[in-house]
Amino acid sequence: MCAIMTARECRLLGVEAQIVLLDGAKKIGAKILVAGGGRCNVTHHRVLPNDYAGASRNAIKKVLKAFNERATIEFFENLGVRLKQEDTGKMFPVSDSAQSVLSALLDECDRLGIAILHPWRVGRIQRDQDRFVVTSTEDRHEPKAFDCVVLATGGMALPKTGSDGAGYRFAQSLGHSVTQRVFPALVPLVVDQRDSWLMALSGISTRATLEVHSGTGKRLAAFTNEVLCTHFGLSGPGVLDISRWYLDARQDDADASLVINWLGETSFEQLDQQLQSLGKKTVLGFLRESIPDRLARALCEQSDVEPSTPGHALSRDQRRLLGRMLTQCPIAIERDRGFTFAEVTAGGIPLTEISTSSMGSRACEGLWIIGEILDVDGRIGGFNFQWAWASGTVAGRSIARSIAESIAT
Ligand SMILES: Cc1cc2nc3c(=O)[nH]c(=O)nc-3n(C[C@H](O)[C@H](O)[C@H](O)COP(=O)(O)OP(=O)(O)OC[C@H]3O[C@@H](n4cnc5c(N)ncnc54)[C@H](O)[C@@H]3O)c2cc1C
Repeated sequence: MCAIMTARECRLLGVEAQIVLLDGAKKIGAKILVAGGGRCNVTHHRVLPNDYAGASRNAIKKVLKAFNERATIEFFENLGVRLKQEDTGKMFPVSDSAQSVLSALLDECDRLGIAILHPWRVGRIQRDQDRFVVTSTEDRHEPKAFDCVVLATGGMALPKTGSDGAGYRFAQSLGHSVTQRVFPALVPLVVDQRDSWLMALSGISTRATLEVHSGTGKRLAAFTNEVLCTHFGLSGPGVLDISRWYLDARQDDADASLVINWLGETSFEQLDQQLQSLGKKTVLGFLRESIPDRLARALCEQSDVEPSTPGHALSRDQRRLLGRMLTQCPIAIERDRGFTFAEVTAGGIPLTEISTSSMGSRACEGLWIIGEILDVDGRIGGFNFQWAWASGTVAGRSIARSIAESIAT
């Protein structure tokens, strides 16, 4: 995206530049291809700063405003990739094929004369007077010198695609810092053996509200979305969304906890009222109207309530215990599944070290930094690509302007 926008803006400004894209991966654009289950969730129909975490929302907003979701839709449409909106607000290519997104980008690079060298893995970037010398990890590639460099190496999620954190090292060697915490986000969670009953529900998916509570009981974050029970614990969009908030909270507060309301937005008090007015209806019959049968039975078992108990026969203690299990169910988490299973990285290079109007480095002239390597992570829904498109565009336009200025002086 950044290379395309640099080349387009250079043409507009009537300046010539040689643009070289170096990628260590054998297969270029691997993340685009795996994204959205192979369909690539390119963006979201409504992107707001609050859909992101990490850096200040104001700084994020500035970048998003410069190239918003409508601009993304138009950009891809002009490349022949029409996007469609799904009920969740996610935008996918009409073709349902991530390959169509990648091919469109590569064809546009080709049309604009952008050289793509891969596999060309960067091992070192050094400032040599007013140029950058980029050295490969492999002897067969000669070092290359450039007037400016863009770091777009991604974070650490799914390292086999090539984003393994090397970019942080490059940034540090050029005068940047990296947040103290760099951890997996949008990552499935492994449940502790104490809650092994959940693993027995493997395959069940239901809409629920997940909350992170501090040790003092304060609600720190909440998401309502699908939760998938698996053989190791929990996955699904709701769990992926809450994961970074839970993992972050746990680093400060060993007593922070994850709590699930299996009935979504129904409160404990509302449920208690409903259970009191069940009459002859059984608990299982009632619960099956809202949650899957196996989950309803498991929650009854955890509350020591026989599922066939008619509502009027529930004791107050039973009712309250069941109510807590259903609406404030604490889940003991052993760990996350790590970067191999994460979709994005939380933490990275602080946005305060970058000018958000250009994505240019404040620490090193001639360096631009974009995408997931920065301390910005979005929730599920196309927000992370939108960040990549927007920050890449802001940088591309700024690089072209700086080339034009350097020619003029
Ligand atoms: C399984 C999965 C599914 C996802 N689905 C979606 C989705 O549907 N929608 C969405 O918005 N987001 C999704 N994401 C997140 C999204 O893919 C990323 O946030 C986005 O790709 C980040 O873009 P980037 O250009 O910053 O980094 P990346 O896409 O990670 O690209 C970094 C590139 O840098 C290269 N590189 C790294 N180090 C070096 C080096 N030393 N030398 C040379 N090259 C190097 C890598 O090979 C890679 O090609 C998904 C992520 C995963 C893992």
